[in-house]
Amino acid sequence: MSDIKTRFENLQSSTLRLRNSTAAERAEKLKKLWAGMLARKEDIFKAGNAERGTHDLDVAAELVMIKAEIDHAVKNLAGWVKPHKVKGAMGTFGKKCEIRYQSKGVVLNMAAYNAPTAECFVPMISAMAAGNAIAIKPSEYAPQSAQIIEEIIAGALPADEAQTFQGGVETAQELLSLPFNHIYYTGGNAVGKIVMKAAADHFASITLEMGGKSPVIIDETADLENAATKLAWGRVMNAGQVCIAPEYVIIHESRQEEFQKLISKKIETLYNSDGKGLENSQYVPRIINERHHGRISGLISDAVSKGAEVVFGGSSDVSTRYIEPTVLTNVSEDMKVMQEEVFGPVMAVMPFKNREEVIDIIAKRPNPLALYIYSKDNDAVEYFLTNTSSGSAVVNNNCVQAGTNPNLPFGGVGASGMGRAGGFEGFKELSNARSIVHQPLDRFRDFLIMLPPYSDKYKNIIMKGLK
Ligand code: NAD
Repeated sequence: MSDIKTRFENLQSSTLRLRNSTAAERAEKLKKLWAGMLARKEDIFKAGNAERGTHDLDVAAELVMIKAEIDHAVKNLAGWVKPHKVKGAMGTFGKKCEIRYQSKGVVLNMAAYNAPTAECFVPMISAMAAGNAIAIKPSEYAPQSAQIIEEIIAGALPADEAQTFQGGVETAQELLSLPFNHIYYTGGNAVGKIVMKAAADHFASITLEMGGKSPVIIDETADLENAATKLAWGRVMNAGQVCIAPEYVIIHESRQEEFQKLISKKIETLYNSDGKGLENSQYVPRIINERHHGRISGLISDAVSKGAEVVFGGSSDVSTRYIEPTVLTNVSEDMKVMQEEVFGPVMAVMPFKNREEVIDIIAKRPNPLALYIYSKDNDAVEYFLTNTSSGSAVVNNNCVQAGTNPNLPFGGVGASGMGRAGGFEGFKELSNARSIVHQPLDRFRDFLIMLPPYSDKYKNIIMKGLK
């Protein structure tokens, strides 16, 4: 028996105990988990810096997101856990109806590398709030973070409630072969398909948090300076390794040139304010590894070889895993940069003449995780919202919809994912919404009129229900 299987069985052994734990007990554990994280914050900052060249404040913002989730769960858990009474209906006349959110059992959380701490802990908070045992599989591409995550979890929770499984693809595959009750996955959609297939073997429910090509629409009425500032930030943040980052801009042709000048200027203003060069900026992070560096620089060279024009940036240095923030125009559908998620600091800009064209361009790709609209025209905003689909959307801003408000569920649609994370929706995602009907036994409410042989009275009731 492998070590992984034995550790999984240890988690399984606590299922009933955790299911019957009180809201107060779960809240205490969440607080303890947060205390463990806070005590290691400097180490978490250092790991982010070593792995992705991040600024301490960027990683601190990731921890703020986690704390907001914990605080929200601690504050609301008692209300989430208690039976939720629901209104009666003709079919349940005289009976008491309620929903009880029960734990699913053992949840596996497989995370990506780009925000390793949040991706491990945010789903874990929902899993713990819902009374599940949890197995965490951090990304092997962020090993320092993974080690700290393992130590925090081991310090805060017993081994039969939460465990960390470090390792690469082999570890992930072994975990996927086990009968978890729910698999929560963050990553690309090639592996998403593998997860979905593995879940089928055990009828595990799944949450898939994936990515895609999130578009930006800028119409003729937009405040361009404002849009360019926010988009420069949205694309360069975490070196573009953000699942909801703006990937490509579809802009009204009358504003394209002005926008290209503005975004180039804004990248300099935000990321090269001391004039030492973008590659020396403490605010421009690095690509996680050489493989992804090669993939992203390959997308730029493929686009250029097929006629794309470099408006800004374009250079890269594999020795420091640096990709210069890059803006491309004159892009076409045959370029890989328009087909694949870049997940790096490269933005493509393309013009549109009329609104219908925008919808056609977006529809060429699978449903994105996010969609951004810059416009001052409310009619146009409604048109773009109602004629597209995405996991989330933001008007006149970007990247502010995730991890910012536990009342806003986060997730994708179709190829960008399924299921929701955060707050009450995240709690429900990792719970079994169990419908319970209580039948009072007095003769006024406990009638068996629906049993054969059917009476005229029953016939009248049913036929009335058809009207
Ligand atoms: P990835 O798919 O390469 O890896 C994710 C996880 O899957 C890792 O834990 C890895 O060990 C495991 N894995 C890799 N290959 C596997 C295999 N063959 N079988 C089983 N498991 C395997 O993803 P990534 O490159 O680390 O992350 C980038 C992607 O994640 C992007 O597409 C991005 O958009 C997406 N993402 C989505 C969200 C979200 O919340 N929607 C957040 C962050 C990242």
